[in-house]
Amino acid sequence: MRADDALARILAGVPPLPSVDVAILDALGLVLDEEVVADRDVPPFRNSAMDGYAVRARDVADAPASLRVIGEIAAGRSPTRTVGPGEAMRIMTGAPVPEGADTVVRVEDTDNRSDVVTINAATPLGTAVRHAGEDLRRGETVVARGTVLRAAEIGLLASVGRAQARVIKRPRVAVFSTGDELVDAGAPLAPGQIRDTNRYSLASALREAGAEPWVRGIVRDSPDALRAALREASAADAIVTSGGVSVGDHDYMKPIMSELGTIDFWAIAIRPGRPLAFGELRDGDRRVPVFGLPGNVVSSLVTFELFVRPALLRMQGRDEVARPRTKARLLEPIEKIASLRVFARGIHDPSAGTVRTTGPQGSGILRSLSLANCLIDLPEGRARHEAGEQVDVILTEQPEPR
Ligand code: AMP
Ligand code: MG
Repeated sequence: MRADDALARILAGVPPLPSVDVAILDALGLVLDEEVVADRDVPPFRNSAMDGYAVRARDVADAPASLRVIGEIAAGRSPTRTVGPGEAMRIMTGAPVPEGADTVVRVEDTDNRSDVVTINAATPLGTAVRHAGEDLRRGETVVARGTVLRAAEIGLLASVGRAQARVIKRPRVAVFSTGDELVDAGAPLAPGQIRDTNRYSLASALREAGAEPWVRGIVRDSPDALRAALREASAADAIVTSGGVSVGDHDYMKPIMSELGTIDFWAIAIRPGRPLAFGELRDGDRRVPVFGLPGNVVSSLVTFELFVRPALLRMQGRDEVARPRTKARLLEPIEKIASLRVFARGIHDPSAGTVRTTGPQGSGILRSLSLANCLIDLPEGRARHEAGEQVDVILTEQPEPR
C-alpha cells in the first residue's frame, strides 16, 4: 500500500469529535465551534492612551499654554468633573477621558505641575484618546466558528466576557507499549531487556499534536494481557500502541484486534515504518480508532508523524492536516531502495536552501530523529539521489496551516 492511500483511508475513518464547553484557559490550540460576538464595545468607554493631561484641543492648539489643573483621574475610576475652557485634568493611561476634554497631552510635553500646568507642545485634537468600540463593536463577530484558538484569540474571548467557550473536544488518547523485553525508564535492566522508549516519545508526540495522552503501562506479549489492555483503553477517544504489529511469533495485535473490533494490517511501501495497523474497537456504540505502530523507535515516531498526527488534527476539527513542505538542495548523495518511499531524517537550512541527512538512518537509531528538523521525502522509483539535486522536504517543526 502507498503512504498516501493509507493516510486517505485513515482520514476517512476518523470523524471530528463532538464539541464541549471548556474554560478558555483549556482551549488553546482547539477549534472554536461557535460564533463568538462582542457583548459590548471594547474598550467599553473612551479612555486615555497616555499618562498626561486631559484638555480641550482648542486650549492647546498653540504652545506654550497654561491651564488650571482641576483634579486627577486614575485607571479604574470614574470622572466626577467636566473639563472646561482653560482647564486640564491629570489623567493616567486607561482612565476614562472626562466630559469636556477631547485630547490628552502626554506628560512629557508638560512641566507636570499640579496647580497650573504648562503645555510645551501644540497637540492636535483627539491625540492619545482611545474611543469606545475602537477594537470591537457590540454585536460584531470577534472569533469565527472554525478558528484555531491561539493566545490572541483566548485574549479576545476574555475581553468580551467569555470565561468558557465551545470547542471541539481535545482527544484523550490511550498509549501503551507491547513487548516482553521492555522495562520502564528508571528501572534496572536484566539481560535481554531494553528500556521502553516509545511510550514516552509517543505520549509526547500526542501532546504536541494537541491530544491529551492517557499513558498506560507496558503490555506483555500475551493474548490475555493485550485483550485486557485494549478493553481498558477503549474508554479513550483513540488508542496508540507500539510493537507487535509484524509477523513475529508473539505479535498478537492482529488476532486480538480482530476479536474486539476490526483491523487492517498494511505493509506500507515506506522506510522507516513498513508495518502499520489501523482499525477500530467497538465500545458500546462508540467506535474507537486504534493505531498499531511498529516497535522500532524511529519507525513508531515517523509513522506517528505521517499517519497519526493528521488523524488527531482531523479529530480536532482541523481542515489542514499536512505540514508545510519546501524544496531544498541535497548536500550529499543518498542511496535507497527503489521500490520504497523513504523519509530520511534531515537537517534543513532555510537560509541556504540546503538539506543533509542526520547520518546513520537505521530504524533503531533515535538520534537520527533527535538531530533532525525535517523529513526528506524521497519518492518510490529512484535508487539514488545525487548531491546538488532538489528534493522535497517536510518541515516537521512547523505547524500545519490554520
Ligand atoms: P516489534 O514491532 O514488537 O517486533 O518490535 C520491533 C523492535 O522494536 C524490536 O527490536 C523491539 O525490541 C523494539 N521495540 C518495541 N517496542 C519498543 C519500545 N516501546 N521501546 C523501545 N524499543 C521497542
Ligand atoms: Mg514486540
